[in-house]
Amino acid sequence: MNSWFGVIYMLVFIFGMQFTIVGKEISWEFMNFIIIALIFCAYFLNIRVPIYLFIPIILVYMVFNGSLVYWQSWCHAISVMITYWSFNKIRRIQVRKHPFINYMLVGVVWGAIMWYFVALKFSLSLDVYLQEFAYLIIFEALLYSYVAMLLRESTLKLHLLAFANHDALTKAQNYAAYTSEIKYLFSNSQQNNLNLSMMMFDIDKFKSINDTYGHLAGDRVLQNVVSTVQTVIDNNDPRVRLYRTGGEEFNILFPGYDLQSTKTIVKEIFLSLNNLTVNVNGKSISITVSVGVSSLSNYDQEPNDFYSRVDTNLYHSKKNGRKQITAI
Ligand code: GH3
Ligand code: MG
Ligand code: MG
Repeated sequence: MNSWFGVIYMLVFIFGMQFTIVGKEISWEFMNFIIIALIFCAYFLNIRVPIYLFIPIILVYMVFNGSLVYWQSWCHAISVMITYWSFNKIRRIQVRKHPFINYMLVGVVWGAIMWYFVALKFSLSLDVYLQEFAYLIIFEALLYSYVAMLLRESTLKLHLLAFANHDALTKAQNYAAYTSEIKYLFSNSQQNNLNLSMMMFDIDKFKSINDTYGHLAGDRVLQNVVSTVQTVIDNNDPRVRLYRTGGEEFNILFPGYDLQSTKTIVKEIFLSLNNLTVNVNGKSISITVSVGVSSLSNYDQEPNDFYSRVDTNLYHSKKNGRKQITAI
């Protein structure tokens, strides 16, 4: 949607500029700006313009410019279309190696062709032709570096955000992500009278897995635990969210669920973890988990009241012999 606003803005910009010089000797003056605007749409916004839309725009532009009867203008128009298509294409196939060289190659070759037809139509001297062509190459290179710089910054921000909210070992969301989500869900659910449930599980005797098979094997088990639980969640309801809130402790939030309706997913997660075997260096490692589940109550004053009840239930499962679910 934003991209199309970009296109409309460019069209108004191009026609507006051209309006000031149309019909004059120098009506090619703004050609480089127009080409750069098109490259921006084709390569950086990567808007695909179907031919049936391209043709009327070009026709209107040619009528506007009074250039319908010049064969050079037709050749120029076709080369503009091919340029747009080529920039679109090289961006879409994601040229991983040397994207700048590919970009410049298309820009230089088609820039030369587009300017050649303009030079023919307006009988430009070789000097003017070379000068305008050189400007175009400089503009193309500047556009690329400027946009690349902006994109690098926003990509970096996204990476930092993902890094701050995710645990590096298992790639699950971390404690920081959990606290901000429970804060939001707690107040939202209370204000709007919505259900909310939480499940907490802790791997039983995990220390002995580390002691027996080594820390690296323990790490592999944690990664497998996350992918196993995530698979169950994905198969049920993507609104349900998993967090690694401690070393071998995990929280799962069920927005919109009361205690009864969590039962199926909780049981499925519990069974899949107790049946999980992780193979490390030819050895099969099995685990069991203890679980606590509870739902939001009207008496909960703050997120920690809710959390404490789930924690107490988990503790009950541990004390009562482990490998079990306590849901109250
Ligand atoms: P319980 O059944 O009572 O929960 O026993 P436990 O051994 O699981 O509990 P305890 O709290 O005594 O030990 C937790 C262990 O989890 C100790 C710690 O070394 C291990 N652990 C925590 N984080 C990681 C991790 O990132 N990688 C590995 N390999 N181990 C971890
Ligand atoms: Mg444990
Ligand atoms: Mg623990």
